Amino acid sequence: MTDQDLDGKRAVVTGGASGIGLACARELAGRGAHVVIADRDADAARDVASTIDGEAWEVDLSDTRALDDLSLDADILVNNAGIQRVAPITEFDPEAFRLIQRLMVEAPFLLIRAALPGMYERGWGRVVNISSAHGLRASAFKVAYVTAKHALEGLSKVTALEGAEHGVTSNCINPAYVRTPLVQKQIVDQAAVHGIPESEVVEKIMLTETAVKRLVEPEEVASLAGWLVGPHSGMTTGASYTIDGGWTAR
Ligand code: NAD
Repeated sequence: MTDQDLDGKRAVVTGGASGIGLACARELAGRGAHVVIADRDADAARDVASTIDGEAWEVDLSDTRALDDLSLDADILVNNAGIQRVAPITEFDPEAFRLIQRLMVEAPFLLIRAALPGMYERGWGRVVNISSAHGLRASAFKVAYVTAKHALEGLSKVTALEGAEHGVTSNCINPAYVRTPLVQKQIVDQAAVHGIPESEVVEKIMLTETAVKRLVEPEEVASLAGWLVGPHSGMTTGASYTIDGGWTAR
């Protein structure tokens, strides 16, 4: 049986209706937390919430002005919602760039800002930011995503420094190529573009610079997120943890 070490804790997981967020929501709920799935996909959020005895919060996190005056009741905040757009800088749609910064930088900032007062009051809080290997190392054609994830690294560290005296930790997780709907779509698209089987996209395009030749499973990310909110994590803050099969080590 899993330890119920998060009993009585309230967790908000953004983008919790799919992929990594879903795996994190299951991990935290399995350990006894009450999990709020914050997602723009209301149906999927409700479905997930019903399976983990949690609750759904239908929210478009790119509509950041609506979050300006938010107060968030959360002991644990997992900033996870994200999207990807691929194009050279010269062709990158400025609106798409802004959208990604709103969703992946402004929204995490506003949610942290909204959750910290309650965490400070209770003297305990855990912020887990799902960054990316692209938060540490760049790739061409992903300017908005790489920029946003690098900014998230800074946000996480400042949160760690300010939160320390209040019992709040903040850390980043930096995965690469996780087996989620987001990556599955990239595999299908690239297979069509190059006219090759999907397995070859993974092997010959995605994993060329990865030492461990497989995709990351969402549960592997969730397991680290679970450790970062668990009982032995109090001294771990302001850090960034890769789960990328050696991609950033290269
Ligand atoms: P996913 O597409 O499977 O899930 C993303 C979730 O976010 C969906 O439920 C979606 O509805 C929600 N979402 C998207 N836009 C939203 C908005 N405006 N408001 C509210 N919710 C919104 O994606 P994933 O692969 O699980 O990625 C999750 C996070 O992990 C992202 O931040 C991504 O950058 C990061 N990440 C993913 C990978 C990977 O290979 N999949 C690698 C590194 C980092």
